[in-house]
Amino acid sequence: MDDVLVLNASHEPLCVIDLGRAVTLVLSGRVVTLETTGRVLHSPSTSVAEPTVIRLVRFAVVPRHQAPVTKRAVLAVYGYLCAYCGRARADSVDHVIPVSRSVGPPNVWSNVVAACQSTRRGRGCNGAKGDRLLSELGWPPVTPIVPTRAQILAALHRGHPTWAPYLAA
Ligand SMILES: [Zn+2]
Repeated sequence: MDDVLVLNASHEPLCVIDLGRAVTLVLSGRVVTLETTGRVLHSPSTSVAEPTVIRLVRFAVVPRHQAPVTKRAVLAVYGYLCAYCGRARADSVDHVIPVSRSVGPPNVWSNVVAACQSTRRGRGCNGAKGDRLLSELGWPPVTPIVPTRAQILAALHRGHPTWAPYLAA
């Protein structure tokens, strides 16, 4: 378990980094350690409590409130389950309103869901849906999940038990 959760100065979860980088930040004084494993790391010149959660000393301005849409994040947020059939393992991202027919930006959390594609029996829900709207197919409507940054981090990383209170929505 070498991942370290990084919080903004406002305590909002920002990202996950590896232990080596986290220790460098701790030693630089740019972050403070909030939670540790209880172990202590020793080097010839110093010793540091092994961090699991650190917080920036100075507030970092995060450009977008919404975390970027990536395939890895979408699949994780949906628990790798197809949002259409609710049964098959999702291995693709589908745009609820197809890219070709979208008025607004299509690649936003409010328009993407995890969908099955490579099923043993053909094209899966993603292929069956194609460039059509759910209403045109007679499929029930779905409401895409618009996750917080914390929810995405929680879905993507198993994390140390000390992370839990910081990632609770
Ligand atoms: Zn499906």
